[in-house]
Amino acid sequence: AFVVFEGGDGVGKSTQAGLLADWLSDQGREVVRTFEPGDGPVNAQIRQILLSRATENLAPRAEALLFAADKAQHVHSIVRPALERGAVVVCDRYVDSTLAYQGAGRILDVGEVERINWWGTDDLRPDLTVLLDLAPETGLGGIDEHDRMESAGAAFHERVRAGFLELAERHPERYLVLPARDPITALAERIRERVAELIEH
Ligand code: C5P
Repeated sequence: AFVVFEGGDGVGKSTQAGLLADWLSDQGREVVRTFEPGDGPVNAQIRQILLSRATENLAPRAEALLFAADKAQHVHSIVRPALERGAVVVCDRYVDSTLAYQGAGRILDVGEVERINWWGTDDLRPDLTVLLDLAPETGLGGIDEHDRMESAGAAFHERVRAGFLELAERHPERYLVLPARDPITALAERIRERVAELIEH
């Protein structure tokens, strides 16, 4: 099973992904915990280009292609091999992040961004997407403008949030939308319930 965590910056994706991965391991499952962008040697270099302050002038289409390249490499080298062995893959961010950030956020055509990404991933869809939803300005202290992307401004982060919510409406069968402000343990419990259903089928 392929489980993805999505949401804005600082909403607690990695905390919940970590708790879920630990719970699955305790059940004796093989779990591969991973993230985008940047997991793996090629990906780490792509991430550096994407997040460096030195790339302030990166064109929106170049940015979108670099994110798609990161995904193509990631799916090929980590995600697909793990799924083929029967592992559960728990991933921070996937294609929907790109649709929200490079599509809705950067105002590229979402359909076009979608096509390059599904091409890049050879159409590998998540089984479950957990969206931790939070109004950007309230933040959870995770946004500290330490990279190029996080300094994009409030209107940008508003469009990203709206982009995610729209995707959740379009794909209700694979989305679990949770309010990121709920207590960590309550969120973890709801996520476990949904994942348990998924892996028992
Ligand atoms: O999730 P993580 O903090 O590793 O993401 C690194 C940065 O890349 C964040 O600032 C995030 O907002 C940005 N990002 C993006 N477009 C994506 C995925 C992440 O702008 N598709």
